[in-house]
Amino acid sequence: MILDPFGGRAAEIIEEFGGLMKTLMIIPDYVDPDEVIKRVSWEDKPPDELIDMNDIEDVLGFYALLGALSIKPYGFEVEEVMKRNAEIYLHRIRLVGRFDGAAGIEAVGREDLPSRDAFILERRGLRGVTPEERENLRIAYRIHLSDFLKFWEGSLKDVYVRSGYAYLSKPQALEVWRGYFRRRFSEVLRSIEGLESEFYKGLNEKMGELIRKRAGSTLYTGSVKAQPLRFDLFPPCVRMALEGVPSGMRNYAITVLLTSFLSYARFCPNPSRKDVRLRDCVQSVREVEEEVVSVVIDAGNRCSPPLFEDQPNEIKNVWYHLGFGFTEKPSLDDSGSSVWYFPPNCDKIRANVPQLCNPDEFCRGIRNPLTYYLRRLFREKQRQGGDGAGTGAEGGGDG
Ligand code: SF4
Repeated sequence: MILDPFGGRAAEIIEEFGGLMKTLMIIPDYVDPDEVIKRVSWEDKPPDELIDMNDIEDVLGFYALLGALSIKPYGFEVEEVMKRNAEIYLHRIRLVGRFDGAAGIEAVGREDLPSRDAFILERRGLRGVTPEERENLRIAYRIHLSDFLKFWEGSLKDVYVRSGYAYLSKPQALEVWRGYFRRRFSEVLRSIEGLESEFYKGLNEKMGELIRKRAGSTLYTGSVKAQPLRFDLFPPCVRMALEGVPSGMRNYAITVLLTSFLSYARFCPNPSRKDVRLRDCVQSVREVEEEVVSVVIDAGNRCSPPLFEDQPNEIKNVWYHLGFGFTEKPSLDDSGSSVWYFPPNCDKIRANVPQLCNPDEFCRGIRNPLTYYLRRLFREKQRQGGDGAGTGAEGGGDG
């Protein structure tokens, strides 16, 4: 039974097929799309047939989904596939009670921890702790700090660190594993982006249809009707950019992040293809000017010093990022002269301007600010309409 689709036995199988790209090429000859779709179509918990399955079938099914996502490697479907597949492997890990070295997590015994520290950490003397709580407090694993820091999304204060290792209870180890899975999933997806294949295109459509149907909403479809922006549901990084930022952060916050985020959020929340142009989503340039560029300019003016006063040419760069080329007065026909930039992923934002990322509770498991916004819109819709509960959509991306 495979516990980690990125390591150990799974890697061996991929090697036997000649490496990742060759495996992706032979997958259409081996897998039935309807069987693969079962990996994302379950409701409350993964069915037994997905838990106890043949290793090769498991690996090919998992990578078939990654191949399908490579057709459109962003948005709600990525979150959903990632979450549901993580759950399949987590279910197995819970079942066998071990990690088999995944994410570098190793089991530890009582002797590995000073007894006084273990006594405090596990609250051994404390009365009123149920056996289940006690089990969850037990320090049973450890992971080298260098790995831990890559996969842990919580605070360092929440874990016990000793001699270069973070010591973990079972719930903490599972959380680290989730972080590991999310990271590897994104890395592999990035590495296969741009796969040209009718099989994966078909699988992508089938999978997308199912996921959207379950979400009970047209919100995430490529044909979603653009809707007015809900500024109150924007992620913290975008809200900060809107308020205006100091000089070192201005170009990234305003021209790169805000321009791309507002334009996709307003006119094309879930693009159906990678090379979508703004003119596919709007009737006139005026709409873009009024609803996106004016907001971007206002935010630029709130920067210190004001961005567009300081760098008047930067407005051309805004149009450039919207796909109209480097111009000040575009026409609709110019749309497509440059790439319409998709909002940068959170890791890119953190790498470029770490001060912009001040995550709140909705950021958990989020990799792109647009996904944050879509998820919050969806929750809001559920809250108001009372539908969509139990679809699993609301937790998308928490791996
Ligand atoms: S986690 Fe992502 S969405 Fe949240 S504040 Fe940071 S960059 Fe923005």
